[in-house]
Amino acid sequence: MLLFKKVSDLRKHIFNERNIGKTVGFVPTMGALHQGHISLIGKSIKETDLTVCSIFVNPAQFNENADLKNYPRSPGKDIDLLTASGCHVLFMPAASEVYPDNYKQLHQFDFGYLEQPMEGAHRPGHFQGMAKVVSRLLNIVEPDSLFMGQKDYQQFAIVQEMLMQMNSETKLVMCPIIREKDGLAMSSRNMRLDKMPRLIAPVIFHTLTEAKQNAKSQTPKQIKEAAMEMLSLPGMKLEYFEIVDGKTLHPVEYFEQFETVIACTAAKLGGVRLIDNMVIKS
Ligand code: AMP
Repeated sequence: MLLFKKVSDLRKHIFNERNIGKTVGFVPTMGALHQGHISLIGKSIKETDLTVCSIFVNPAQFNENADLKNYPRSPGKDIDLLTASGCHVLFMPAASEVYPDNYKQLHQFDFGYLEQPMEGAHRPGHFQGMAKVVSRLLNIVEPDSLFMGQKDYQQFAIVQEMLMQMNSETKLVMCPIIREKDGLAMSSRNMRLDKMPRLIAPVIFHTLTEAKQNAKSQTPKQIKEAAMEMLSLPGMKLEYFEIVDGKTLHPVEYFEQFETVIACTAAKLGGVRLIDNMVIKS
């Protein structure tokens, strides 16, 4: 695997590979990699000729300084995991490469309702910061395909909208959520969970699973009430549990109205913020 730190070096390499007919797959990450990230790399390797992974902890998308400071970082282990996965290129830029002094955002995005509920309501500025870095990275890498996880469902919907607004030809590929054996969605933040919160954490998956099972016989309102009760445990601070339309993210009152319905939730456990979701009707 080749490691690049400079935009110009990375672009030169990609240019040369493209010239010999290779297609490019891109997996942007913030590092502290786990098997969830590696599944995205695997899909990119399968579907494209040259897989580029980036690791950049983007200050612009953190709305709390403490979260940015405490965000796990494990560059040595990340490089080992990526090498073993067969990833071709790792881009690990400094902030000054991603946002040089003369950097001007090419597009100002208005995502309308997509950025308002759920993560948007609880993490002000997060999606604009995420869009800033993803659009910048897309301008650098210019991939044929971009691989992102269902784990961040709202982020995926916003990136989809962003690509449309950019008139981008990059194909966005959704990759399924990879979970621990007990159901907890893999996340870089999981390593910050103490023993007790880690034991409790799978309740999020169980609640989503129950929501899915009950979607056949109950209303969204009934499901949401039951879920909120399941998730009100000591030490757990539920931020939201929403049942939304998979396309617009508007709350769903009746399942019959929509083709794809997703249950999305976020909760803090022992100070660690966890998010998860499940398609409960498709
Ligand atoms: P992050 O490093 O948290 O910014 O995540 C980078 C990419 O990996 C995003 O597209 C995430 O949605 C995806 N991802 C994170 N966790 C998982 C998981 N458990 N399963 C699948 N994809 C994931």
